[in-house]
Amino acid sequence: MNIEKVMVIGAAPMGSGIAQVCAMAGYQVLLNDLKADFIERGLGVINKNLSRQVEKGRMTEEQKQEITARLTPSTDLNDAGGVDLIIEAAVENMDIKTKIFSQLDNIAPANAILASNTSSLPITEIAAATKRPEKVIGMHFMNPVPVMKLVEIIRGLATSDEVYRAIEDMTKSLSKVPVEVNDFPGFVSNRILMPMINEAIYTLYEGVATKEAIDEVMKLGMNHPMGPLTLADFIGLDTCLYIMETLHEGFGDDKYRPCPLLRKYVKAGWLGKKSGRGFYQYE
Ligand code: NAD
Repeated sequence: MNIEKVMVIGAAPMGSGIAQVCAMAGYQVLLNDLKADFIERGLGVINKNLSRQVEKGRMTEEQKQEITARLTPSTDLNDAGGVDLIIEAAVENMDIKTKIFSQLDNIAPANAILASNTSSLPITEIAAATKRPEKVIGMHFMNPVPVMKLVEIIRGLATSDEVYRAIEDMTKSLSKVPVEVNDFPGFVSNRILMPMINEAIYTLYEGVATKEAIDEVMKLGMNHPMGPLTLADFIGLDTCLYIMETLHEGFGDDKYRPCPLLRKYVKAGWLGKKSGRGFYQYE
């Protein structure tokens, strides 16, 4: 399975990060979102990231130009007609993802692989929206994508070994480390991380300590690079809530009940860093 052309769906932090690392590895990349403005914003972030690399002497201006020339904006899903791999990084919502995958199934070439960057939604269920479940797989990148080495590769029930190997090789070509995981709610990363973040929110909700104190305990006491509430703001509180709901529903166990304070913040539009306010306020 030869992968040369990639389409990334969603130009928010994850999608633009994935598009950047793919372009840096030499792939031709179509960056798709609903509106041209959203793609412009994503491309702006990529440009800033690459300029920083040039300033630090890690790449030349010429290399930067070559990378950006491999990135093409797209607001039309029909552009998927000529690609080998699609990595979907749209919003964490099953209805939206299944709609995208069933549309892509009709547009993308028969041998194209359809991957999702979902943080927690079942790959098997996403795959069932297509007539090619053996070519559907999870590619769960970590945030920020250009910095973080891990990609959880999630096998759906029907994912073929050939597709798994192609995606494992492609991940290595991005200078990332693939780790094989089976399809269970939250996979490995978010099954462990998100209940910890949710518990930190409960700790705040129950008045055990201030947000600063909670973050400080986990940073200094557990050697975490950032506190759980700062990390939640960074991930996006809406994404955190979606993941907790997926764990709660998927396991049917109340130990995964999302904290009411998390729901309240999301309802208020306090989504974390991306909206300017979450547990903390941002410029
Ligand atoms: P986000 O949820 O903030 O934004 C989603 C983007 O997708 C928006 O730009 C939106 O316009 C676009 N979009 C929505 N519907 C679309 C459609 N039908 N076609 C094209 N574009 C569409 O994005 P994010 O935080 O980058 O997360 C994207 C995905 O990556 C989610 O599945 C999320 O769970 C996963 N993820 C997020 C993180 C994180 O730390 N934020 C980490 C790993 C994985």
